[in-house]
Amino acid sequence: MGQLLDGKLLAQKRAGKLKEKVKDLKKRGLNPLFCVINIGDDPSSQLYLKTKKKRAAEVGIEQQVYQLAQNETQNNLLTLIDRLNQDEKVCGIMIQLPVPDQINLNEALEHISPSKDVDCLTPSNVGRLWRGDHFVEPATAHGILALLDYYQIDLRGQNVVIIGRSSIVGKPLAALMLERDATVSILHTKTKHLDEYTRKADILVSAAGQAGLITADMVKDDAVVIDVGINRQNGKTIGDVDFAGVLPKAKYITPVPGGIGPLTVESLMEQVVALTRRKNGR
Ligand code: NDP
Repeated sequence: MGQLLDGKLLAQKRAGKLKEKVKDLKKRGLNPLFCVINIGDDPSSQLYLKTKKKRAAEVGIEQQVYQLAQNETQNNLLTLIDRLNQDEKVCGIMIQLPVPDQINLNEALEHISPSKDVDCLTPSNVGRLWRGDHFVEPATAHGILALLDYYQIDLRGQNVVIIGRSSIVGKPLAALMLERDATVSILHTKTKHLDEYTRKADILVSAAGQAGLITADMVKDDAVVIDVGINRQNGKTIGDVDFAGVLPKAKYITPVPGGIGPLTVESLMEQVVALTRRKNGR
């Protein structure tokens, strides 16, 4: 029977430590001010913003939300980013995803100062991530590594299979795991015979956003299964993994909810603090 990897518990523990770090920064007159730009009225974005604000407040971080209209122009967005880049008080900036169609997201991301890029999405920070000398880590990937470390699951030489190649989850996670000497495969919708890869995985990460994608027959005995997916089904939040089916086969498994989700929000706050310290030469 698989052991649960309790992301909620770890997030609480790390939040306690982070709160102390924030206190220490404030004693020195440094305020980790975090700015989120939200464009439009996507309902799940509103929910994420609320959760982030709550978690930020719990550790003493000030989060400011810049709410822009659904039909906001690219120029106005770039002007706002410029203003936040230049504002000495601002330590971290992120754009809440998704953005409306008229927005050129890549151009907007390129505009964010790399030293304030909380999500690690600017081209230079992505390059640094793959080069292995980064100063900020994408929150979900950071949270997954923190969870593996906490349960002393070593990545060296392990066969890791990641389902999903997005810029916010799959690709950065692959970069960080490669850095830890794992052998990494990234699968996506055009991958033929998904199960031939997943069955060989010592560590299987699913970040597809497809409920029921990973069934027991796709998982090797004693594998570590990390479920990043968040799907709504019959009013419930579930992951990509058939939890009940895979649990008896896995050595470790993350629940949904209570796995990677809480760690992602916590890790985001850790990145704000890391950027604040770096900005002030600490
Ligand atoms: P994207 O939609 O950007 O990416 C999904 C990726 O999964 C794509 O690369 C896609 O392939 C691949 N994929 C989708 N379906 C399949 C399939 N049937 N077989 C193989 N590959 C597949 O999503 P995100 O990366 O933003 O998020 C992924 C999931 O993780 C979502 O459920 C999201 O809600 C959740 N999430 C959870 C977080 C947490 O904290 N727990 C944080 C961030 C995201 P292709 O590129 O070919 O389209």
